[in-house]
Amino acid sequence: MNYALVTGGSRGLGAAICKRLAQQGLGIIINYRSNESAAKAVADEIIGNGGCASLLPFDVSSEKSVDTALEKWEDEHPDDRITVLVNNAGIREDNLLIFMQSQQWHNVIGTTLDGFFYVTRRVLKGMLTKRFGRIINIASLSGLKGLPGQSNYSAAKAALIGATKALAQEVAPRKVTVNAVAPGFIKSDMTKDLDESTLKKQVPLGRFGEPQEVAALVAFLASNDSAYITGETISINGGLY
Ligand code: NAP
Repeated sequence: MNYALVTGGSRGLGAAICKRLAQQGLGIIINYRSNESAAKAVADEIIGNGGCASLLPFDVSSEKSVDTALEKWEDEHPDDRITVLVNNAGIREDNLLIFMQSQQWHNVIGTTLDGFFYVTRRVLKGMLTKRFGRIINIASLSGLKGLPGQSNYSAAKAALIGATKALAQEVAPRKVTVNAVAPGFIKSDMTKDLDESTLKKQVPLGRFGEPQEVAALVAFLASNDSAYITGETISINGGLY
């Protein structure tokens, strides 16, 4: 069976992406860090709708945790392969740079950027061997324009976009595509502390986006219809730049 691995698939955008990719007939590997009940609810919904889903907890920022979990999955699934990887796990630890703690800097870079590196390096081997793969990196508007209070997050997401462009050129000869998606304000746990009624006035479409809208874009990038798109960063932000 062909599988999609979605990091941070237990909540928010990742959960919506898992459910949407399951509708495309992919088996879903739901990664998360600690929230097992949320991940299980996503798996139950997919299985209840006739799909295939399983949980694979690991901390994307830990090389050992990533390698151990994926090695075990590969050993247990000799006839299956991961054809779609969505690097979605991410955290925010906002602070003005002058006050930013080293840990806030490293936590955010570690989850987004180290996480991309450790997980992608591991999964890429199978894609290159089979000469097919779709890698989709969840970046952010913050990585394109920079946002005050988010120098750690903007740096991590901008670097992720750079890595997307570089890797796309490395693996294109093997028919593996690598793209990024850059959401603006999307309703999720990550944005629930924001003042939506004020911030939505900055958005030309006048509202925050839904996780399902990001999932639809990811599903397109994961499909055969996107075969000629690679190295691209697609914004989904209601017109906010
Ligand atoms: P969220 O609701 O806070 O969910 C974050 C997810 O990432 C959870 O599933 C969490 O797992 C997982 N996670 C966090 N650290 C992890 C780690 N070290 N290892 C494995 N999994 C980890 O966030 P979201 O809003 O859906 O955001 C998803 C992605 O979209 C992030 O990369 C974020 O930067 C990006 N994004 C979001 C927005 C927005 O407006 N929401 C805008 C632009 C970009 P647990 O459940 O176990 O904690």
